[in-house]
Amino acid sequence: MNIKEKKKRLEELYGQYERGVAEFKKSAACIKGCATCCIYVGNIDITTLEGIIIYERLATLKEPIKSEIRARLIQNKIDREMKKLSQCPFLRKDRTCMIYDIRPFSCRRLYSIRRCNGGSPIIHRQALEMANQILKKIQQLDSKGYSGHISYILYLLDKREFRKAYLCDRFNPQKIANFGKTHGILINQYIAHH
Ligand code: SF4
Repeated sequence: MNIKEKKKRLEELYGQYERGVAEFKKSAACIKGCATCCIYVGNIDITTLEGIIIYERLATLKEPIKSEIRARLIQNKIDREMKKLSQCPFLRKDRTCMIYDIRPFSCRRLYSIRRCNGGSPIIHRQALEMANQILKKIQQLDSKGYSGHISYILYLLDKREFRKAYLCDRFNPQKIANFGKTHGILINQYIAHH
């Protein structure tokens, strides 16, 4: 499967999840502008496949917003390396998502049947199981890629050599072994089958 086909399949998987949880989500307490799960977060895990879609969107942004997002991504990486909570770099001031149409699955899977108020979301067990199954399928789809926190994956994709190798399906985890170990980067083809 080439990258274009993988992106299409990814969208199908997102759609499959949305259809599967539509009934459950009817009782969600989430409202536009809440953004608790975008602010009080540790990791926002994404796959490289999701990362490249966001990376390509970033490349289309105009200045000064492009530089602003780059700066936020760098700061987010530093904060997370220091184990500090750091709001998502893509959250706007009005608490809406700048990349809502291409947000990663870790954001799509989240909802809560009660207002979180700084706590953890409460999700139906069946929806949680469905989300875990879809996540595995996404990792299998991106079997030549990796998973990790959003600013870490975008940091890797910003490196020309890594990006080129990824887009050419050249799988060489040794190349990122040190960064991977220190930043909790997972190798999709190893985790998707467990
Ligand atoms: S990508 Fe969008 S939905 Fe996901 S955490 Fe960031 S701002 Fe929130």
